[in-house]
Amino acid sequence: HAKKVGRANHQFFAPAMNAAAGARLALERALRQALENQEFELHYQPKVDVASGAVVAMEALLRWRCPQRGMVPPSDFIGVSEEIGLIIPLGAWVLREACRQNRAWQLAGMAHLRMAVNLSAYQFRQKDLPEFVAAVLKETGMDASCLELEVTESVVMHNPAEAAQILDRLHAQGIHISVDDFGTGYSSLSYLKQFRLDTLKIDRSFVRDISSDADDAAIVRSVIALAHSLRLQVIAEGVETEEQLAYLRELGCDQYQGYLRSKPLPAAQFEALLRSGAADTPAAAPKIVAR
Ligand code: C2E
Ligand code: MG
Ligand code: MG
Ligand code: MG
Repeated sequence: HAKKVGRANHQFFAPAMNAAAGARLALERALRQALENQEFELHYQPKVDVASGAVVAMEALLRWRCPQRGMVPPSDFIGVSEEIGLIIPLGAWVLREACRQNRAWQLAGMAHLRMAVNLSAYQFRQKDLPEFVAAVLKETGMDASCLELEVTESVVMHNPAEAAQILDRLHAQGIHISVDDFGTGYSSLSYLKQFRLDTLKIDRSFVRDISSDADDAAIVRSVIALAHSLRLQVIAEGVETEEQLAYLRELGCDQYQGYLRSKPLPAAQFEALLRSGAADTPAAAPKIVAR
């Protein structure tokens, strides 16, 4: 009898690949449903001016609140969303929601802060991206100068000639362009002069050991010098300690982002942070417990 059952269930138990394929299919199905079911939300992380401590901008970071899986980080679903083409409608939702929220905060009297939105390579390859962005700005009433788009080096280097054109058309609208995770992607620096860019974002991996690793400190110092000589702004990602911030200040970094000031927060909590005055009084920054 046992043998018979075993054979009958063979297709379900034997190949581990079936289980993996099944899980993947379930994930795809759940993701497609998630957009319709409004399970996505944006969290916001402040970008802080190093010199004054003022919040000068925010980055929208996508979260999936899945009823079965709990809160899912983008690393677990952006790749799949790209592979199944969902990233186009999902990315459109992100842009609309970020612009709507930013405009709502401005109408509610909160400071004129820039909103940064991450773009996937797939979105960047859509020929009508500049027109789409213009339409969303118009629809939401958001000022183009308040929008910042973050793209990685690999996104623009995929097709440099085309990318240069798209960046020009975005820049012409007054939109701010940042290179995300700078230093981790394509190694050629020639694109820095071909493309219209405004800010380099130094990747977290260079910031982590900046106060103990001389090589990381040298890289960060060089990137800041490079950015400034190209008339670009520079922001450090992943700043978690006062010590890291002190180094960045010393090296002349313009802005920082990281848990030291705040994790990405749901809209209501981010709004509370803005209202608390933390946006423009450095003294209101959270106190750091001595190490
Ligand atoms: P990213 O754009 O480089 O975003 C920074 C990531 O670092 C975020 O992770 C953020 O939560 C995290 N982070 C910020 N400060 C600190 C810190 O002090 N320490 C540490 N350890 N981490 C910090 P998250 O939210 O999980 O996002 C991961 C990546 O997913 C993003 O990297 C971005 O590439 C992508 N992503 C997020 N939202 C979107 C989106 O709406 N569209 C697209 N296409 N990609 C997105
Ligand atoms: Mg980013
Ligand atoms: Mg980044
Ligand atoms: Mg990153």
